[in-house]
Amino acid sequence: MIKSPRGTRDLLPPDTALWNFVEATVRDVFRAYNFHEIRTPIFESTELFARGVGEETDIVSKEMFTWSDGERFNEKRIIDEWLRANQSDDPHQVQAGRVNVQGNPSFLAKLKELGVQLQVWRGIQVQPSLLTGRVEFVAFGPRVSSDAIIGLRKARDIAKGEYSHEFGTHTILPRLVVPDEAAKTSPWVATGDVEIEGFAGNYFSSSESLTLRPENTAGIVRAYIQHDLGKRGLNKFFSIGPMFRRERPQKGRYRQFYQIDAEVIGPTSSGSERPIRDAEVLEMLDTMLRRLGISDFTLKINSVGDAQDRAVYNDALRKALDPVVGRMCSDCQRRAVTNPLRVFDCKVPEDQPIIETLPLIRDYLGPASQEHFENVQALLKKAGVTFELSPKLVRGLDYYTRTAFEFTHGALGAQNAILGGGRYDGLAELLGSPQPAPGIGFAIGEDRLVMALQERMPEATVHVDAYIAPVGEGMNREGLRLAKDLRRKGLVIELGDRSFRLKKMFETATKIGARYILIVGENEVKADAFALKHMASGEQVTVPRAELAKRIAGAEKGS
Ligand code: AMP
Repeated sequence: MIKSPRGTRDLLPPDTALWNFVEATVRDVFRAYNFHEIRTPIFESTELFARGVGEETDIVSKEMFTWSDGERFNEKRIIDEWLRANQSDDPHQVQAGRVNVQGNPSFLAKLKELGVQLQVWRGIQVQPSLLTGRVEFVAFGPRVSSDAIIGLRKARDIAKGEYSHEFGTHTILPRLVVPDEAAKTSPWVATGDVEIEGFAGNYFSSSESLTLRPENTAGIVRAYIQHDLGKRGLNKFFSIGPMFRRERPQKGRYRQFYQIDAEVIGPTSSGSERPIRDAEVLEMLDTMLRRLGISDFTLKINSVGDAQDRAVYNDALRKALDPVVGRMCSDCQRRAVTNPLRVFDCKVPEDQPIIETLPLIRDYLGPASQEHFENVQALLKKAGVTFELSPKLVRGLDYYTRTAFEFTHGALGAQNAILGGGRYDGLAELLGSPQPAPGIGFAIGEDRLVMALQERMPEATVHVDAYIAPVGEGMNREGLRLAKDLRRKGLVIELGDRSFRLKKMFETATKIGARYILIVGENEVKADAFALKHMASGEQVTVPRAELAKRIAGAEKGS
């Protein structure tokens, strides 16, 4: 059995109803806060994440799904090397087993159109003007494909037809040369009388490194720069979609997971840098979670300072780490040199007591960062948003500046961070924006949000208004027609099959929770009135076709 890859999962009904509920609710909230949807590709160039998220982060250093793309088959190289290996040493003298390149220009042009690159002789010279042996039409391809086979056969047909005077009675052998590793034949390609030759060597070259997005802020900022969205002033974006990280899978942690992202970004003149934006985003999150029915969450905030503060803090961290880092894990030893802030991402239990003693960023904030952070806190208090200060919160991504935050939820166990985010002034410039574009954003882990809701919500119930049971010859047609009419009137209808016994259809109607079963038999069709049975009460009435929709819909409110 082929299973879904490790760390991925299928979301199935009825659970998907909960996902849809979450997405519909957050869309509603986003609308009220004037956020608009942006959809960026799920893969981007690797460099975007390396630069944006940071080389030293766990995400970039360990967790990305990266591949090289733009793989091109280097046809010229394989032809050159194949000829070098096969060509006759003496261009005037054909030798057994070796080839001489032949062909008149008009015929060669025809071959080229068919995707056949060479016409060669393989044989021996009997007299100066007489060759014996065979002609080969050679195509070079990245793999065995039906296109190549068809092209070679057509070339042979043309040679035997239009050009028979040139080829006489010589045998013509079509040959397809593919790189060794690609020599495998697809079971769907009939190779017939075409000889397949695997010619060892790697004739592919790749041009670009791509990565499945592990997060979406970098992609959105990339789009902001690419489309010069700064000219619109302040942009408020949201997006919902899958992210990919090669993490060790466990409950609440997947390799494909979903995030609900929002980003507020614009030129400095749009006010994108102001504390009111931080407060608005945090207040929106508080509202959003409550609207979803989640209230037992904790908002933790910290300031990770701006670029200048960080430089000073990094120095202090390096100094503090210097005498102790030798006792820490190898990751921390590296981080201490390259990016000391990342030491706080360490999960090794033995390192934690050392991390406890390190200086805190809050003691290294410059006056501007300090003021910003105080402003954000004052605004949150005014807006009635409860929060905790969390001085060690640094978040696992390098781009954060100033405000960083996380919402945790008690019911989620070890993976209790339901969302995280922060400000990222400077990221746009790092990614090549000619103008500064401060911003702030967050990513909600939708999988975890749904998990938190599942704790409290009963299984989503599926609602079916009526099950149509066609009984007897020709009744499927009638049932289908009736189903179409009722569905067009907005009812949810399931349709049976006349080959089922009526008992089975009753059982199915019960199982799917249909409110009614509607019998479509010959007598009903003749009378244009149908037996409609209310499943819960067992009450059965005959209802004229024209009144069916009203009857089913009307009773729905009552039941
Ligand atoms: P981050 O992008 O790392 O700041 O993560 C933001 C949120 O996404 C986290 O708080 C989690 O709720 C969620 N998240 C991150 N990684 C995963 C994962 N591997 N599986 C499920 N949810 C995740």
